[in-house]
Amino acid sequence: MVLETEKLDKFFKLGGREVRALSDVNLQVKRGEFVSIMGPSGSGKTTLLNMLGCLDKPTHGKVILDGEDVTKVPEKKLYEIRRHKIGFIFQSFNLLPYLSAIENVELPMEGTKKSKDERRKRANELLKMVGLSERGEHRPHRLSAGEQQRVAIARALANNPAIVLADEPTGNLDKKTGYEIVRLLGRLTVDQGATVMMVTHDSQMASETERMLFLSDGKLLAKEKEGILVEKKTKCPYCGRKLAEDSEYCPRCGKKL
Ligand code: ADP
Ligand code: MG
Repeated sequence: MVLETEKLDKFFKLGGREVRALSDVNLQVKRGEFVSIMGPSGSGKTTLLNMLGCLDKPTHGKVILDGEDVTKVPEKKLYEIRRHKIGFIFQSFNLLPYLSAIENVELPMEGTKKSKDERRKRANELLKMVGLSERGEHRPHRLSAGEQQRVAIARALANNPAIVLADEPTGNLDKKTGYEIVRLLGRLTVDQGATVMMVTHDSQMASETERMLFLSDGKLLAKEKEGILVEKKTKCPYCGRKLAEDSEYCPRCGKKL
């Protein structure tokens, strides 16, 4: 498991009132999965993603990321976890307007061990992967909405995170571009072994993923649905070897799945 939550609660105090944004959420996500979390507005989707991304602490319960209970990690160290283990993608792209596309992708690598040349090389590879090799020098306002989101995806992957968290990534895109973005995210889980969690209130986008979960009033419903990407479960996320249903270890590279 790359990500688990145990009995996660999040309450907010609002005026004198307590808002229960999340209640007893138990979640398990395997490496290389493409999971969508569906739910109406106000059901707790963003709150859950913020907990998973260590942007906020739960009121009770655990968030276990790559084997580590991050609710026990002091704030100072959380910054490093966010930077190295998590990639974020937002509805509004959140690119820095005064930097070029390639500089936006390089940004999360600043202050890491990579040299300037290595950072540029990695950023170029990532832009190529999202189909924007030719657009690296453009500032965000010169790019279409779909292109900006692809830059944001490249940026999210810069430090090779264990998990990519996307909050309504297609919310500001037209339907066709939205599908392209979701399929690109799906391809990352197949080709790069990335784990992607996508929050959306759009059931058509959700059905493009592998596994659909449902939040309602802060509770994760017991029902789950399979999306169209489900067949890809038959590939090892590390080496791409075809797998039998429910294999625990990859027969080629030996890694635990
Ligand atoms: P969603 O992303 O599914 O639309 P949210 O996670 O944003 O839902 O919100 C879930 C619930 O928690 C809502 O009732 C919302 O008003 C409440 N909430 C979220 N953030 C805060 C906050 N910082 N303070 C108070 N209430 C909040
Ligand atoms: Mg939200």
